[in-house]
Amino acid sequence: MQIPISLPLDSDGFLRRECPNCELEFKWHHGKTPDAPEDFVYPPVYWCPRCGRSAGHDSWWTPEQLDYARAAAMGPMLDQLDDELAGATRGSKHLSIKLSSERPEIPDPMVEPDDMIALQPPCHPWEPVKVPENSAQPHFCLVCGEAFAA
Ligand SMILES: [Zn+2]
Ligand SMILES: [Zn+2]
Repeated sequence: MQIPISLPLDSDGFLRRECPNCELEFKWHHGKTPDAPEDFVYPPVYWCPRCGRSAGHDSWWTPEQLDYARAAAMGPMLDQLDDELAGATRGSKHLSIKLSSERPEIPDPMVEPDDMIALQPPCHPWEPVKVPENSAQPHFCLVCGEAFAA
């Protein structure tokens, strides 16, 4: 079962992320930037711009994003389950299953503020990151982990 959940990007197209290692926040650009070379092969992990450790692409959700995704998925998931149960029991005189009609409230869409400052790593300038102002030096390239000073 797949429930599409949309998370907001800031006005420059950046998505908020939280590092599973240092638990600090930053943002990465959602998808390739227009400047990325066509043939660039993205690595299976990304490096945290703030602590320089790596993790798989799916490891960077903030707690707020996970809470939101869970809450937003609950209603559609229950509806789908209802439909499937209705289909499975159609035509049977003896079996009727109806889930509780109570649905959790649909959460308000998340809002992404235009905070943080954009940094371009010299090694991969087309893959910028955003970090909070005054975050500790050095920073690390998202796609190769190379340290750089902003
Ligand atoms: Zn980190
Ligand atoms: Zn790099």
